Amino acid sequence: MVNVYEEQLEKAGKFHGDICGGIVSGTKMTVYALELLGMEFNKKNKDLIVFLEIDRCMSDAVQAVTGCSLGKRSLKLVNYGRFAASFYKISTKEAIRLVSKDDKEKYKDETTKEKIERYKNTPSDELFEVQPVEIKIPEEDMPGKPIDQATCSVCGERIMDGKHKFINGQAICKSCSDESYYKIK
Ligand SMILES: [Zn+2]
Ligand SMILES: [Zn+2]
Repeated sequence: MVNVYEEQLEKAGKFHGDICGGIVSGTKMTVYALELLGMEFNKKNKDLIVFLEIDRCMSDAVQAVTGCSLGKRSLKLVNYGRFAASFYKISTKEAIRLVSKDDKEKYKDETTKEKIERYKNTPSDELFEVQPVEIKIPEEDMPGKPIDQATCSVCGERIMDGKHKFINGQAICKSCSDESYYKIK
């Protein structure tokens, strides 16, 4: 019988396109987190929200193994550029943050195949630090029906989920009020 790690690794590899080093660690991390939270695999985890601290390969493993996604509002990117993620159980508000403590320097010449084997045979608590954390999620960021929406007084576009602010009593989107990531040509 294949173990959970191998089964989920295959799934994450399919989602990502290949099994690379990041997929290996991301899979092991997510399997560990779900086990710690007592969650099942290959099920719709409606009780879970994940906060990703990086948008690199491991992020795809987190998404593939948990089934959490942006569109379901169950995957939040808080890009600190760190190899870490927090797993929040909605029903109990329990949350754990897992961070890789793998010795990157020591294993820098290891092949992906070797890493797959090493991660298979190394207990999760030797690879990841687990921090119990408290996370406060604003109600408008939770999955479910929208509870707040507005129209921007400048661009006229619809703004969902309380992402607007008010200037002189007028709703305004962050693109119009702050520095926008784009400029219309
Ligand atoms: Zn990759
Ligand atoms: Zn606007």
